[in-house]
Amino acid sequence: MSGPEDRAGRHRKRMQARKEIVDAGVARALQERGVVVLYTGDGKGKTTAAVGTATRALGYGYRVVVAQFIKGAWECGEKNLLGRLPPEQYPLQWYEMGTDFTWETQDFEADKAAARALWDRALAALRDDSVYLVVLDELTYALNYHWLNKGEVLDALAQRPPEQSVVMTGRGAKQYLRDAADTVTEMRALKHAFNDGVAARKGVEW
Ligand code: ATP
Ligand code: MG
Repeated sequence: MSGPEDRAGRHRKRMQARKEIVDAGVARALQERGVVVLYTGDGKGKTTAAVGTATRALGYGYRVVVAQFIKGAWECGEKNLLGRLPPEQYPLQWYEMGTDFTWETQDFEADKAAARALWDRALAALRDDSVYLVVLDELTYALNYHWLNKGEVLDALAQRPPEQSVVMTGRGAKQYLRDAADTVTEMRALKHAFNDGVAARKGVEW
């Protein structure tokens, strides 16, 4: 039989062991530099996490550039909110691609031109050491559709200012992109309401 005191003792021991592991990890993490984060996989949460990170950086007044490699003026609640922030205090630039949906226009050259125009803006941010965080949302599509040149993207990531961090998102990230990132999270869909016939929900999905 174990009483509350035994349980408390075991809990204390477990917490102590946990603390030692965490402290050892913290002691090893001595590098101070920006990181490249990749959110991929077919589960929901990639863009939400990327924009959450943008909010986190903005909360400290850091300069943030968001580039969304999806065609069309997607409405999104976060953009509505963050767009209202006073820019002198919370310096955010939010760029998007073109005006029509990719799968509606089906015009490879027009899509490519729109992606390249957006990439030029992203590239300017990736060369600017006053930009603390660059979000390249849905970048994997622009790469997988060959709108962008993979070598050019990898070079820009490698040559960015050392203090700058980058968050990339999109399904189907290829191995080269996973290799280029410091932190990779694969969001795995266990289920999604859409597949049960539930429409994309305002304020949840967009
Ligand atoms: P979110 O924007 O909600 O963080 P995401 O960026 O991970 O999602 P995407 O792959 O970019 O998702 O897909 C865009 C849209 O599709 C979003 O509205 C998202 O909620 C929805 N979605 C995400 N995962 C799934 C899924 N497994 N099945 C159906 N719809 C999905
Ligand atoms: Mg997304």
